[in-house]
Amino acid sequence: MRFSVLGSGSKGNCTLVEAGPTRVLIDNGFSGKELLARLRSLDIEPESLTALILTHEHDDHVKGAGVLARRFKLPVYANEATWRAAEARMGKLPIYREFEVGEAFVIDALRIHPFAVSHDAADPVGFVLGDGADSLGYCTDTGIVTRLIRQRLHACWAVILEANHDVRMVKEGPYPLPLQQRVLSSRGHLANPDSLDLAAELAGEHLRLLVLAHLSEINNHPDLVLAEARRRLPGEDQVRLLLASQGQACPLLEVSP
Ligand SMILES: [Zn+2]
Ligand SMILES: [Zn+2]
Repeated sequence: MRFSVLGSGSKGNCTLVEAGPTRVLIDNGFSGKELLARLRSLDIEPESLTALILTHEHDDHVKGAGVLARRFKLPVYANEATWRAAEARMGKLPIYREFEVGEAFVIDALRIHPFAVSHDAADPVGFVLGDGADSLGYCTDTGIVTRLIRQRLHACWAVILEANHDVRMVKEGPYPLPLQQRVLSSRGHLANPDSLDLAAELAGEHLRLLVLAHLSEINNHPDLVLAEARRRLPGEDQVRLLLASQGQACPLLEVSP
């Protein structure tokens, strides 16, 4: 199993996960042109995509979903509330498949287990994706780390985890107060220390590859996250650490011991 975070942040999110010939995208907040350029940078033909799965209906996750699904006749998987909330934005889809939160479903070689996260959307989820041998966790857009999130991610070998903001940068930054409160709330976005508390815990279990994602361009800084992460996590020989970026795709990363 391999994956690449094609881009992550408030201007657009999309992650590619592949197992054998199965290629699934998690969310698509990018324009068609932008997404195709990012896939091309990894030598991935868009015609080879199998399906698109959605975490929640916010624009930075679904903006390009409808166009992509129609152009490549991709089935789109979402839960009912996300589907209803995103329907107007996405337009008519060629194939729509509904999943239940908490119930695993299968797309060819991938088994996908959606779990609830804490975010101000209709019914937002994260995913654990497995190919029978190894598993990858995807968890962004959550204000807090719940017991369920911890449980779901604990067996993962690789995790894509939100490290959205530095609390002081939010409080001293340019956001108006209501927006600050939204970001900092339990249904907002994950602060660096909360993210790294979880990552440190997972590093003591099965985690060997961590991609920190959905970094705020205004309320966070890559150097700050990296410095905090290096302080909190074991060395690169134990847990490989990468930051997902807004502007370009990560390399394809192998999920395998
Ligand atoms: Zn969101
Ligand atoms: Zn988001």
